[in-house]
Amino acid sequence: MSVDTTDVLVIGGGPAGSTAATLLARRGHRVTLLEKDRHPRFHIGESLLPANLRLLEQLGVADEVRSIGMQKWGAEFVSPWEARHQDFRFAESWDKSMPYAYQVRRSQFDQILIDNAARAGAQVLEDCRVRTVELTGAGGGVRVHAEHAGGAARTWQARFLVDASGRDTYLANQLGCKRRNPRHSSAALFAHFSGARRHSGEREGYISLYWFEHGWFWFIPLRDGATSVGAVVWPYYLKSRAVPVEQFFLATIAACAPLAERLASAQRITEVVATGNYSYSSTRSHGNNYVMLGDAFAFIDPVFSSGVLLAMNSAFAGAEAVDACLRGPARARAALRRFDRIMRHGPRQFSWFIYRITQPTLIGLFMRPSNPLRMKEALLSVLAGDIFGATPMWRSLRAFKLLYALVALLHPGRSTADLRRRRRNIRPA
Ligand SMILES: Cc1cc2nc3c(=O)[nH]c(=O)nc-3n(C[C@H](O)[C@H](O)[C@H](O)COP(=O)(O)OP(=O)(O)OC[C@H]3O[C@@H](n4cnc5c(N)ncnc54)[C@H](O)[C@@H]3O)c2cc1C
Repeated sequence: MSVDTTDVLVIGGGPAGSTAATLLARRGHRVTLLEKDRHPRFHIGESLLPANLRLLEQLGVADEVRSIGMQKWGAEFVSPWEARHQDFRFAESWDKSMPYAYQVRRSQFDQILIDNAARAGAQVLEDCRVRTVELTGAGGGVRVHAEHAGGAARTWQARFLVDASGRDTYLANQLGCKRRNPRHSSAALFAHFSGARRHSGEREGYISLYWFEHGWFWFIPLRDGATSVGAVVWPYYLKSRAVPVEQFFLATIAACAPLAERLASAQRITEVVATGNYSYSSTRSHGNNYVMLGDAFAFIDPVFSSGVLLAMNSAFAGAEAVDACLRGPARARAALRRFDRIMRHGPRQFSWFIYRITQPTLIGLFMRPSNPLRMKEALLSVLAGDIFGATPMWRSLRAFKLLYALVALLHPGRSTADLRRRRRNIRPA
């Protein structure tokens, strides 16, 4: 058996894997990236956050992404119970230098990132699926066995492994360290539409979020006129489906009048996809010779469009750590500890909001945001993904959470009922 050698082997060419491969190749390491599919390929997750733009600039792809993206200046939250909407403009967040993000077709976006990795010098092999990993290879290295689409097998000996396999969670499965999130559970149904009614002016590129009885919807306008629409629902609701998924999705949309109205003249242009419970995390983010990035480490919920940002940010942190490990053992432990802190920080910040986003108390605060102690600006900074830098909004964010607790305490009956309902809803179906 012939064995190829490389410094870093990356599993997966999504945003996390392609970003890590680019950064490590730029630092002079030999990088091999294996992707089981061939780009351009469909992927859900089209809405980016303003904090993503800085990462795109550092990667040198900001102009390319601008050319395929729809500018997203904010988000609109719509409550059908109050028949009103509330806009959040990123320009009003704490740091005013990040006023917009993009909505992107992921097939195009992910292609830009993987091409960039190849340009940086990484060896990129598509249609090549990792089948087995041995973490105790010769000299502390890693042995990876993969299979090309035609069936040919190939083996690599690498000094370090980067698992960026997304929701396949390749390594966490193999190591048995993937855990279902006990505090959250949801499922999704989604498709693309043409002819959906758009807002005008700056609001055209907004993401719209609609609450409804069984969860919430996203409405994401794309640059070419298509619109991504998805329902994120409690597992019991998806389980109740007794008709074909297309019919079920249309009935679900009909249950949310303000969204149904925007889709009244729209045509569905893709298949409806249903995906089951996806809230999980791995108990560890790294070992001596591997790191897990992005969804390969954890995913909670799409409500704040944080997935791509967390994936790419984890790749920046991961590349730092892997580089330190490869340059010598002296800095390796501290570098991996720092990496681990960053990996846990993002999911922690977003999950506080995710766990409460369908609770009337938080819905009320979102629908009537006010800015004493700069609380609204701090909230907007979280919505913009500005959680890894030096923006000093943490005290104001704590004040917002305190306000939430006070409002919940003032309505004890409602709060207890909500808590009970939530416990029932997150039970796996
Ligand atoms: C319903 C839903 C809606 C979402 N909406 C948003 C949104 O609006 N905005 C947002 O930011 N995020 C969203 N997300 C999350 C977002 O899609 C992910 O967080 C993001 O794609 C993670 O990037 P990644 O690189 O970690 O993984 P991925 O993008 O999934 O990439 C992993 C890659 O690894 C490859 N791979 C897997 N196994 C192997 C193997 N054995 N060998 C070789 N290659 C392999 C896969 O083919 C894939 O290309 C959403 C998620 C869901 C479920």
